[in-house]
Amino acid sequence: GHPALAPFGTTIFATMSALAVQHDAINLGQGFPDTDGPEVILEAAKQAIAGGRNQYPPGPGVPELLAAVAAHQQRFYGLDVDPGSQVLVTVGATEAIFSTILALEQPGDEVVTFEPYYDSYAASIALAGGVRRTCVLRFPDFAVDETSLRAAFSERTRMVLLNTPHNPTGKVFTRAEIEFIAQLAREYDAWVVTDEVYEHLTFDGAEHIPMATLPGMAERTLTISSAGKTFSTTGWKVGWVSGPADAVAAIRAVKQFVTYVGSGPFQPAVATGLGLGDDVYADLGRTLQAKRDLLVAGLREAGLAVSVPRGTYFVIADAASLGARDALEFCRELPERAGVVGIPVTVFCDDQDAARTLVRFAFCKRDEVLREACRRLGSLA
Ligand code: PMP
Ligand code: GLN
Repeated sequence: GHPALAPFGTTIFATMSALAVQHDAINLGQGFPDTDGPEVILEAAKQAIAGGRNQYPPGPGVPELLAAVAAHQQRFYGLDVDPGSQVLVTVGATEAIFSTILALEQPGDEVVTFEPYYDSYAASIALAGGVRRTCVLRFPDFAVDETSLRAAFSERTRMVLLNTPHNPTGKVFTRAEIEFIAQLAREYDAWVVTDEVYEHLTFDGAEHIPMATLPGMAERTLTISSAGKTFSTTGWKVGWVSGPADAVAAIRAVKQFVTYVGSGPFQPAVATGLGLGDDVYADLGRTLQAKRDLLVAGLREAGLAVSVPRGTYFVIADAASLGARDALEFCRELPERAGVVGIPVTVFCDDQDAARTLVRFAFCKRDEVLREACRRLGSLA
């Protein structure tokens, strides 16, 4: 294999989803909903297929999706984005992340990110020949430690890779934290690449603050999102990146040779989704918040200490009370012991001690599935 990938092996999501199937366990590992998104979007995809939109779409994306992404940024955040030059449609956020890093990084450049980090970040940085510098977010509040963030920057810093709302912690970065990151990015003349795939999945009135909305930051920020989480269509793999025209052109140049284009008939369907009313968006957070409450209560009842997430699909719990000493080992045994699958947070960390017994559980599942998972975990204590 590629030497840069040697430390990574098979992704934890593939490993744990295979264990779920093998043991017929409840899969609270990989983050995907067990119900589909709004009917009107599913219908729009069927119509696109029936209507013959089955050949290569244009390289940057279909015009109505480019326009819908720009309109979405204006409607929710007041951002001016030119659909013709400042938006690129990608094969999920995953390709946007990879192509953006490849386009903006030179080998040896440093990328500052937060850990625990989403697994594709480390692999994408490594494939680009970059060097990862992390700032550790610590259980249970996962606050940004300013001293440690500043220490992660250097003269070689090319980019900050931010993710808010944050997978796997469920943290929504505060305005003060975003402002501090912006200040450092300006000081070190770095790009900010911000992964906002959970932008609409926030709870308790938590405000999602896009980096690009801060004064002077739009010109150095690449904003990434995807339809998978917002519309419960993770298999469609429609994502996008928006930002300054010259950077988007550089990313498009990379993308040409990674996938060229993708997801033809799903692109117009996602454009339909982005145009849905505010009530649909408000409902996303409300529905998921109730599921969060259900899982948090169940985990607590099973005796686990929990960090209550304010966004995303995920909650992190400390499995020490269930006898865990090593999260990976614990999660490998859990499907057989209890019929439940979780993700060990250690796989997202360089500093193993910061996550030793922490497990991530997904709550984007039907209520009865969550209840049964909690019952099973409760019987372990
Ligand atoms: N970023 C984060 C933080 C994620 O959790 C995920 C996975 N859902 C992705 C990116 C990948 O998104 P996509 O499925 O659109 O490629
Ligand atoms: N983003 C999802 C998660 O964090 C899964 C993505 C994947 O399987 N690569 O669970």
